[in-house]
Amino acid sequence: MAKNAEIIAIGSELLTPDRVDTNSLIVTDHLNGLGVEVIQKLVIGDDRELLTEAIRTALSRVNIVVLIGGLGPTEDDVTRDAAAAALGRPLLLSAEQESILIKRFRSINRPMAQNNLRQAYLIEGAEALPNPNGTAPGQFLFTDHGAIALLPGPPRELRPMVEQQLVPRLLPVLPRQVIRVRTFRITGIGESDLDTLIAPVYSKYTNPTTTVLSSPGDLHVHLRARCETAEEAEALLREVGNPIAELLGDRVYSEKPDDTLDTVVARLLRQHHASVAVAESCTGGLLSGRLTDAAGSSDYFVAGYITYTETQKKQILGVPADILKNFSAVSEQVAAAMAEGAKRVGGATYGLATTGYAGPAGGTEFDPVGTVYIGIAGPGGTRVIRLRYGGDRYRTRTMGTQAALDLLRKTLQTAN
Ligand code: AMP
Ligand code: MG
Repeated sequence: MAKNAEIIAIGSELLTPDRVDTNSLIVTDHLNGLGVEVIQKLVIGDDRELLTEAIRTALSRVNIVVLIGGLGPTEDDVTRDAAAAALGRPLLLSAEQESILIKRFRSINRPMAQNNLRQAYLIEGAEALPNPNGTAPGQFLFTDHGAIALLPGPPRELRPMVEQQLVPRLLPVLPRQVIRVRTFRITGIGESDLDTLIAPVYSKYTNPTTTVLSSPGDLHVHLRARCETAEEAEALLREVGNPIAELLGDRVYSEKPDDTLDTVVARLLRQHHASVAVAESCTGGLLSGRLTDAAGSSDYFVAGYITYTETQKKQILGVPADILKNFSAVSEQVAAAMAEGAKRVGGATYGLATTGYAGPAGGTEFDPVGTVYIGIAGPGGTRVIRLRYGGDRYRTRTMGTQAALDLLRKTLQTAN
């Protein structure tokens, strides 16, 4: 028996803005752990016909179908009926489940309403999966070409049943297969440029599969290899991943799945026993915010100076008046002077500065709205980069902050 699964989450509440299907993430995690890929997930309301049809389609397409929810005692709980109909099998009252239910209600000293008996019906041929945290048992049965499981909706009931009931039943019938993932965390390149760069490598392979996740200024590339052994999977990840790593170069800030640019910068500052002071204009404190987000940031963060006006740039950071006058506050020269000022006034290893036009008003012909200069002053000297963003104020400030952190990262990585 192979490899692919489909999950169907059932419940009309999951189609409202108030509730989100979280159970399928738990199920997916465990299926992946068995080397099983989830190729489709559905959320369906409490609708018997729709559900029956969806189960029938799933059974014809994948080897493992997991149904979540809709196993309660009420009329709107239709999963048992729909699964039985899709399989063309009757529901049969299980004397054993009936007595478990009766005992359970007796133990909590509550009368059992008649409709609770619905929970004692099993699909013909199905095995009941005990549910220690609730009244509805799960169900599991093998079909002609796979398996189907019915699991209860409340997460505290579902989770232990996945671990203790579902996984042990699938494990012995699955072929040996493992999934290994390699992740690249990337900044300093846009999504389409990234894809143009690396698609020639990854598009030749269906195993591993490649996905690109994107948020402003931050991209993640995931390679997922599925093989019989971990060695094969890891070899495939090297075969495809190494050329990708080479193409991306220092735009990859980490290959660790839990890293963020912030944690990488923090780690580098600690490793180098270095400290940083920040001078911010257009980012208005966002950069200091990112640098102080983690506990223990006082180990490396010295100070943040938000110098918005020219007067403050002069008074606090000592930016020379003639530089401001000759080149304007948004310029390479001022970014350099701000970074040097922050380093000196803060007594830090590095000074990091931002100045730019966040917009929507302002800008010049040479430096239109969206232009950001980022300066860094450190033991190796002073350097300024100029960036241009096309988006709105929010985007320019967010991207400028990200780029400043990244400049600090690259500077630290090349420092000796
Ligand atoms: P049910 O098994 O349909 O009686 O669901 C009982 C409760 O479990 C629902 O009211 C939800 O709060 C929760 N639930 C059901 N399905 C899910 C799901 N897929 N993810 C998270 N919670 C769920
Ligand atoms: Mg429900």
